[in-house]
Amino acid sequence: MRLINALVRTLKIQTFSIIAGSEACNARCPFCISKMTPALSVELSEPKVNWKKFKTACRVAKNYGTHTAMFTGKGEPTLFPKQITKFLDEMAEFNFAPIELQTNGILIAEKPEIYSSHLKEWYARGLTTIAISITHYEPGKNRKVYLPHKKQYIDLPALIKTLHEHEFSVRLTCILANDFIDSKEKIENLMAFAKENEVEQLTLTPVNKPEESENYAVWNWTNQHHLSEKQKKEIFDYIEENGNRVLRLSHGAIVFDVKGQNVCLNNCLSVNPNSEELRNLIFFPDGHLRYYWQYPGAIIM
Ligand code: SF4
Repeated sequence: MRLINALVRTLKIQTFSIIAGSEACNARCPFCISKMTPALSVELSEPKVNWKKFKTACRVAKNYGTHTAMFTGKGEPTLFPKQITKFLDEMAEFNFAPIELQTNGILIAEKPEIYSSHLKEWYARGLTTIAISITHYEPGKNRKVYLPHKKQYIDLPALIKTLHEHEFSVRLTCILANDFIDSKEKIENLMAFAKENEVEQLTLTPVNKPEESENYAVWNWTNQHHLSEKQKKEIFDYIEENGNRVLRLSHGAIVFDVKGQNVCLNNCLSVNPNSEELRNLIFFPDGHLRYYWQYPGAIIM
């Protein structure tokens, strides 16, 4: 506790990330190491959560001055929608706002008859923003990444409309990759898609080129699809020239207003040991609380 108090005095945390669900995912992204696939006809059981430690984690997050809470996962959090509701109930007394959910959106789009009631429950419990991961504005390109085993990608504009009808704010989080969104023309088209669908926020994150990876297929794909320095410069220069900087986040991301569209340029520099503001406080379901995904040693409790 002394360590926590010492940290609290000097650090601020930007986002309280809550790992919901398991490593299972219904997508097949080639850049993801989460390759566990839920059996289609088998109801997956909710992964266990240490709820006592979750409450403590909420308290620590509040002590750090964290305002934003985000449900994310090593897999897809919406596979366990009732658990998201339970998390929201457990954290209600801490009054986090905004509360965000990062998802590939597939289940919400494919099973509206089931997910409509979950969306209502989440909204009533304070969920404000749903962030949908994409790699393109074209369905064919997104299918190639997320659903190569299916004939079609989801109807993304219809999903955004549904989320707006449930009063959520929508963020598109786009991974920038070679042969996907890799030029200023495609950025223009992506922004036009976001505007047309009244997407509140658009986040652009270049896919990481890993030095090494435990998974050869992931290493190979990211190695082939990371943006070249020239492509990155073209995109970054375009945003700088056409936008106004409206916010700088502690991890180096810069938010622009580009012709009325919110665009966040994420440069992936998430490790900054000298910063007085950390990007993440991450709650793991077993009760551990860490501040970097990639370093097991970055642990608070
Ligand atoms: S949607 Fe997310 S968790 Fe699922 S495979 Fe893609 S990157 Fe991995």
